[in-house]
Amino acid sequence: MDRISIHGITATGFHGVFDHEKRDGQPFTVDVVLHTDITRAAYSDNVADTVDYGAVSELVVAQIQDGPWDLIEKLASRIAEAILASYPSVATVDVTVHKPQAPIPVPFDDVTIGITRSQRQHRAVIALGSNLGDSGQILATAVSEIAEAPEVELLRTSPVARTKPVGGPADQPDFLNQVLEVHTTLDPHALLDLCQRIENNHHRTREVRWGARTLDLDLITFGNRVIEDERLSLPHPRARTRGFVLAPWSWMDPDAVLDGQLVSRLAEEAADTPDITRL
Ligand code: ATP
Ligand code: MG
Ligand code: MG
Repeated sequence: MDRISIHGITATGFHGVFDHEKRDGQPFTVDVVLHTDITRAAYSDNVADTVDYGAVSELVVAQIQDGPWDLIEKLASRIAEAILASYPSVATVDVTVHKPQAPIPVPFDDVTIGITRSQRQHRAVIALGSNLGDSGQILATAVSEIAEAPEVELLRTSPVARTKPVGGPADQPDFLNQVLEVHTTLDPHALLDLCQRIENNHHRTREVRWGARTLDLDLITFGNRVIEDERLSLPHPRARTRGFVLAPWSWMDPDAVLDGQLVSRLAEEAADTPDITRL
C-alpha cells in the first residue's frame, strides 16, 4: 500500500486533565500517515483521484480545536476516525499526537501518542447478469472494474452460468450470470452507486422491467445488514427464488447461507435452476 505523510500539523488546543490546560491552551502537533493506493492518481495526474493533503490538514486542525478532551489518546482516535470517515480510499491511518508542553515535572523534549486505525471491511455478494451485446466480455470487464475500485477487494468469483430469462418480455436472449464476493470499506449505498456507475459504463438502459440488458449489477447481501429504503433492499428480496443467482453463488461458496438457509439448497428448489448450464 502507498503512503501519504503529513508531519508537524500544529494548532492550539485545550486538552488536558488540569484546569489551567483547559483555560490557557497549548500547542498540539500531529503527524498523519495515510495508507492509500495512489495508482490511479499516478496514472491520471488528477488531484480528484488522490487524497487532498491540504484538506486533511484542515480536518486535523479542526479536531485539535474541538473538545476539549482530557486525553491525547482521545484526540488521536478522533483524528483517525474523522480521516477514515471522510476518505473511504484511505485504508489505514497512523496518527501521532505530540504534546511538547505537557505538564510533566521533569525536563523532557516531547510526549507522543501513536495509533493505527483501519477502515472496517464489510463482506458483500454482488450478482451480475447480461443478455445484450458481448455478454461474456461485458461480465469480464465489469468484474475488473469492480476489482479496480480502491475501496473494494475482490475475494471470490463464481463460474459463469448460462440461464433462461426469468420474468420480463418472452423473446429475450439467454443470460450469462455470475456472482462475486467482495470486501469493501464502502457503505451499502456507496457500493450501489459504484455498481450503477459500472452499469452506466456499459450503457445500461431501463425501458422495460426485466427487459434485455447489457449489464445488471445487483447487491445480494451486505454483511448481515437488512435495509428497506427507496434505493436499496437488502438482502435482495428476489434472490432467494432465483436459480440464476443461487446456482453460481453456491458453486463459488458451497457453504453460503441466505436468510438462514443454505444457498445450495435454495438453488435446488428454484424453478429456473433445471435450465442453467455451467460454462
Ligand atoms: P431486480 O431488482 O428484480 O433484479 P432489476 O435488477 O432489473 O430488477 P434495476 O432496474 O436494475 O432492476 O434496478 C431498479 C432499482 O432497484 C434501482 O434503481 C435500485 O435503486 C433498486 N434496488 C433496490 N435494492 C437493490 C439491490 N439490492 N441491488 C440493486 N438495486 C437495488
Ligand atoms: Mg436484477
Ligand atoms: Mg438491478
